[in-house]
Amino acid sequence: MKVASVIVDVPAKQTDRAFDYLIPAEWQDSIQPGMRVVVPFGPRNVQGFVIDIKAESEFQKLREIIEPMDLEPVLNQELLALGDWLTEETLCYKISAYQVMLPPALKAKYEKKVKLASGVKSTDLPSVLHPFFLKKDCLDWAEVLNNRLVPLMQKEVAKGHLEVLYQVKEKVKKKLVKIVRPHQSTDQLQMAAKELPANAEKQKQVLNYFIHCNEPIEVKQLISELNVSSTTLKTLVEKKLLREEEIEVYRNPYKNRTFERTSPLPLTEAQRNAIKPILNSIETNHHEVFLLFGVTGSGKTEIYLQTIQKVIEKGKEAIVLVPEISLTPQMVNRFKGRFGDLVAVLHSGLSAGEKYDEWRKIQRKEVKVAVGARSAIFAPFENIGIIIIDEEHETSYKQEDMPRYHAKDVAIERARNHNCPVILGSATPSLESFARAQKKVYRLLSLPVRMNNQPLPSVEIVDMREELRAGNRSMFSRKLFELLKDRLEKKQQSVLFLNKRGHSSFVMCRDCGFVVTCPNCDISLTYHRAGSRMKCHYCGYESYVPKVCPECSSEYIRYFGTGTQKVEDELGKILPEARVIRMDVDTTGRKGAHERLLKDFQDGKADILLGTQMIAKGLDFPNITLVGVLSADTMLHLPDFRSSEKTFQLLTQVSGRAGRHQLPGEVIIQTYSPDHYSIKLAETQNYDLFYQQEMMVRKIHHYPPFYYLTIITVTHDELMAAVAATEKIVTYVRSQLSSQAVVLGPAASPIPRINNRYRYQCLIKYKREANLTKTLKTILDQHQNHAKNGLHVSIDVNPFILM
Ligand code: ADP
Ligand code: ZN
Ligand code: ZN
Repeated sequence: MKVASVIVDVPAKQTDRAFDYLIPAEWQDSIQPGMRVVVPFGPRNVQGFVIDIKAESEFQKLREIIEPMDLEPVLNQELLALGDWLTEETLCYKISAYQVMLPPALKAKYEKKVKLASGVKSTDLPSVLHPFFLKKDCLDWAEVLNNRLVPLMQKEVAKGHLEVLYQVKEKVKKKLVKIVRPHQSTDQLQMAAKELPANAEKQKQVLNYFIHCNEPIEVKQLISELNVSSTTLKTLVEKKLLREEEIEVYRNPYKNRTFERTSPLPLTEAQRNAIKPILNSIETNHHEVFLLFGVTGSGKTEIYLQTIQKVIEKGKEAIVLVPEISLTPQMVNRFKGRFGDLVAVLHSGLSAGEKYDEWRKIQRKEVKVAVGARSAIFAPFENIGIIIIDEEHETSYKQEDMPRYHAKDVAIERARNHNCPVILGSATPSLESFARAQKKVYRLLSLPVRMNNQPLPSVEIVDMREELRAGNRSMFSRKLFELLKDRLEKKQQSVLFLNKRGHSSFVMCRDCGFVVTCPNCDISLTYHRAGSRMKCHYCGYESYVPKVCPECSSEYIRYFGTGTQKVEDELGKILPEARVIRMDVDTTGRKGAHERLLKDFQDGKADILLGTQMIAKGLDFPNITLVGVLSADTMLHLPDFRSSEKTFQLLTQVSGRAGRHQLPGEVIIQTYSPDHYSIKLAETQNYDLFYQQEMMVRKIHHYPPFYYLTIITVTHDELMAAVAATEKIVTYVRSQLSSQAVVLGPAASPIPRINNRYRYQCLIKYKREANLTKTLKTILDQHQNHAKNGLHVSIDVNPFILM
C-alpha cells in the first residue's frame, strides 16, 4: 500500500493541510512528490499537489487518487519545501503558495496531450505503444488514462521520447513547423538521384541538396531556397526518400532580433574589488547577501554578467530579477548578448503560451539563466549558483495579493537552500537593505563612480511658486522651456517625466472647488481625454464629464492638473516644431508598443520623449542631454511613510537618464516643495545624507527599518460593522503582544471606501514578537467563519502599500 499526502485546491482554513489518499496500484510507481493529481474531495473532484509519498497513513478508510495530472513533477523538492516557508512567512494557504510558483498555463483550465518528441519515431517506443502513435503523433490525456499507459509513458518521457503538452483551451498550442528530412542514407539518395528521369530536374535538385547537407530543414525554407514546389517534395516523400514531420518551435518573443554577442569587459579596479568577494562566495558555495551600491552607469550589470559566467562555468544556474518596467529589450539584449540561447526571459508581456515555453526551457535544463520580473524567482532550477536582484529597492518585487511575498525574501531563502550568493543591486538602496548592510548582515560593495568617470548630470531645482509669482502659469518653468528650445536647436533629445498616468488629472469646478469623485470609492475620478470620460481606477466606474458643476451649476468645471495628454497638448502650443513621443499606459497598452516607441525615439524620430515612470528606467540613449521632471511633488504627498524615499529614488533614477555618454547632461526638477530634503538631496544625488536624514525620521516615528510593520485591513459594506470588527481585532492584538509593540487603530484606511466597502485598518509596529504569527493566524481563522456576514479581513506582513 502506498499513500500520497496531497494539498488540495480548496483555499480555506480547514483544508490548509495535507490529506492522505491511496495511490491505486497501477500508479504506485508513477506518482511522485511535486506532481499534480485529481482527487475526490467531499462530493467534488479537485486538483491537488502531492507533497509526500509514504507507506501508510494514520487515518483509516482512505479514498483513492482519481488520476495523475503530470508525468513528471512540476515542482521540485526545494520548491515544495519553499511552499511551507512561504505559507508561514506570508500567512497564505499552502495551495496558493504552490500555485504562485507555476506558469499560468499550468494553473488555468488545461488540455493535455502526450506527443512524440521531435525526431522520435513511433518505432522507437516499446511495441505496446506503437498502435497509439501509428496515425498521429499526439495522444489525448484521456486516452493515456483509459489505456492505463501512465507508467510506460513516464519511462518514455524520462528517455526524452515523449513529451507532455499543456494546452489552455486551445490557446496555448505549441508552435509547430513542418520540416523535411532525408529518410534514406546518402548513398541511397545518390542512387535514387541517378535513377530519376532526365526531366525530373527539380526532384534531382532537392535530392542533391540532401546529399550535400544531411540535415532537416523547414519545408517553407527549402521551397523558397531551391525554388521548388510542394508537389516535388510530396513526390519524394511518397517515394520514401524524404520524410516530412512537424516539430515544435518555441515561440520566441525575441526571434526577429539578432543579438550581437558580447564578451566580458576587462573590469575596472572598482569593479574588480566589488566582484572578488562574490566570486569567492560562488567558488566556496557559501551563502551571503551582497548589496551592490552604485550609481546608474557604474558598471553593475557587467558585474552581474561576469558572476553569472562563473556560475555557468561551475555547471550551475542563475536567476536575475529586474523590475517589470525595466525588462526592456535593452536590458534583455545584455543578457542574451552574453549568454545567447542559455537565457530564458519571463515577463508579463508574454502570452501564457510563451511563458510556458520559457518555463519549460528552465524545467528541462535547456537554459542556465532566467531573467524575469518578480515571479521568475520561482524558476524551477535545481542547482542555483547565484540570484541577482537589480533595482532592489523597487516596490514591484512585493506581490500585493495572496501570497503577499517579497521576491527579495524568497531569493534569500532559496539562496540559503542552495548555498549560493545573492546580489542586491541599486543606486538608491531601500533603507531596509542599506541598514542591514550597515549592520553587516549584508555585505556592502560600492561602485562610487560612473564608467569612464562620466560626471553625474548637473541637477537644478526650480521653485514653481516663484514661477507663479513671476506670472508664469504654464506647467513649464522658464528655465525648462529655454533648455527644451536649446536642445531642439542642437538636435539633441530631451526626456520629460511626469509621475504616473493622469495622477492629478481630476475634474474640478474652478468656482466652488467641487471635485468629481467615484460614487463607490472615496477617490477622485481620473480624466481621460478619449471620449471626454472620467474613470475610477479602483472599481472601473466610468462617466462623462459634467457640463455644469453638480454643486453650484457653474460652467467652469473642467479637468485639472497635468496628465501626460495635457502636457503633450501644451508642448504642441509652445514648441510646435518639436516632435513628441508620448509613453504612458494609454499609448503602450498593445503588445510591443512599448518597444516600438522606444525604438522610434532611439532612431531619432522624435525630439522629446514624454512619459510616466515607465520611462524612468533602462533608457540609455547617447543623444539624451536633458531630463525634465515636471512635478516632483506628486509622490511626496502620498499617505505613505516611504513617500520621501520613493521621491528621492525616483528623482535619482530619472536624473541618471541624462548624459550617460559623451554629451554632458542637464536635469531640471520642478517642484512646489524645493526645501524638502528628499528633493534637495536629489540635486546632489547624495544618497548617504539622504539615508541619514530619512533614518532619523523613521526612528522617531517607529517605522522600518527600526520596526517591522504588519497591517490588518477589515472591509465591510456597513461602516459600523467595519469599525466594530477592527476595534475587536485591535484589542485582541494588544492583549497578545508585548508592551514593546505599537498597535494602532481602528483607523480609516487612506482610501476609506472601495467599491462600496468601508475599509478600516489596524497597524502593528514591532521589533520581535514571538507570539505574532500565532496571533495573526488566529485572527484569520476566526474571521474566515465570519465571511458569511460580509466581513473580510486581510493581513499584509511587511506591507509596501499602506492604503
Ligand atoms: P549599471 O548597471 O550600473 O547601470 P552598466 O553595467 O550598464 O552600469 O555600465 C555602464 C556602461 O559602462 C555600459 O555601457 C557598459 O557596457 C560599460 N561598462 C561596464 N563595465 C565596463 C568595463 N569594465 N569597461 C568598459 N566599459 C564598461
Ligand atoms: Zn461648482
Ligand atoms: Zn470606484
